Amino acid sequence: MSLGKTYYRYVQRSTCGVVASPGVNVLYDNTGTLALTGALEQSLAWNIRTGERIHMCRPTSTSTRGHAIPGTQVTVQALSPSPTQSNRLAVGYEDGGVRIYELQSQGISAVSGECRQVAHFPGHRAAVQSLAYDKAGALLASGGSDCDIVVWDLTAETGLFRLRGHRDAITQLRFIGGGGLVGGAVGGSGDEELKLLSGSKDTLLKVWDLEQQRCIETVVGHRAEVWGFAVTPDETRVVTISSAADLKVWALNVKGRGSGMEVDDADEEEGSGSGGNSAPTQGHLALMGPIRRVGMERGVAVQFSRNGMFMGCHGTGKVLEIYKRRSHEEVLKKIKRRLKRLREKKRKKSTVVRIVRDTKIALDIKKLYDFKCQICGTALKTKSGYYAEGAHIKPLGKPHNGDDSLSNILCLCPNHHVMLDKGSLSINDNFDLIGHVSGKLTVDPNHKLNKQNLFYHRKLHDY
Ligand SMILES: [Zn+2]
Repeated sequence: MSLGKTYYRYVQRSTCGVVASPGVNVLYDNTGTLALTGALEQSLAWNIRTGERIHMCRPTSTSTRGHAIPGTQVTVQALSPSPTQSNRLAVGYEDGGVRIYELQSQGISAVSGECRQVAHFPGHRAAVQSLAYDKAGALLASGGSDCDIVVWDLTAETGLFRLRGHRDAITQLRFIGGGGLVGGAVGGSGDEELKLLSGSKDTLLKVWDLEQQRCIETVVGHRAEVWGFAVTPDETRVVTISSAADLKVWALNVKGRGSGMEVDDADEEEGSGSGGNSAPTQGHLALMGPIRRVGMERGVAVQFSRNGMFMGCHGTGKVLEIYKRRSHEEVLKKIKRRLKRLREKKRKKSTVVRIVRDTKIALDIKKLYDFKCQICGTALKTKSGYYAEGAHIKPLGKPHNGDDSLSNILCLCPNHHVMLDKGSLSINDNFDLIGHVSGKLTVDPNHKLNKQNLFYHRKLHDY
């Protein structure tokens, strides 16, 4: 056979028609008509109803005649919350740069919808992983794979300072406090100081004081990478999502508890919840508890609805989970219901024992063995005759649902009845006793025990 044939070798030059790159967050504008996706080097704005592409933002260079600069894949995007600049889009890139675009501009090309680049902040040595505007849209924080956080002044178009302390990529940033007042200055003019909350793959959450430009609290609550967090609109709760299967809920105190004297009572209120999690800190975050996710894959993102009533989260799997926040009344109702159920359970337990003792079948079994324990042979003598108990191998009631039949009942003395129920002993298929008792179960030839019930009992108690 001849191998003399030559083939053309094809090398990929470019990709077209990409709608959304994986790993880039999708944004929606205030009106709910536009969806913003990151597609390779471009940020694209789509009309959700028509599917039409309205805007396109990409870093361009004049030297390559308006073509995208290589190595500038979009990694993260954020829309300005400012009412006057709500068309400003901040985009982070693979090369560590952040660019700001103006969406409505028809400037460069009305045909392609290409938008004007307003500013370029080359602030990181590695890919930008997270972006966050403050409430007024005057400040922007960027976090990178280089472990740094940079805070930018958007009015002066300049970097203000760099925050260092995390030891791995910054996965999420969020400004908290500041009173929500318009006013660009760091620290704000509100009654609460503006702070920055950061999550990282180094498993830590950090709270940064922007006036002192330093970390004032580090929360060690996770053993796995923190992939993101969400803050309720009223800034009272934080939910974090990590590589582990559960979400963690934190009580957020924007002011912090260590900073003032007047907040002593708040300490007592939530002190029990914080436990040993955040001992020598300022007390901005206190762990409340976990929520177990349905999806077992590593978490990706968590977010609250605008009114804070709903929370959505998803991992790398296909499940999107939506949670509803319970109102105060619903929480009370739930607690009441749980207490009631507990009380009922207790009552049921005592009635079950009484019923067991009195069933006809149990009495038949006891007569069959002359009230002698099938394990130790003891028959307890009482004033009113001999005493033994009918013991169910597979327990009655939920969740076991064992049946009240001859094949599921043994005649036992009270001690061995308790030991059977608590799993201190179990029985093999050949009636050998296992666990804290040795020997063999005495079984009458007329007493046909169901082996499946024996098997169930062994599995129930880990034999
Ligand atoms: Zn016994």
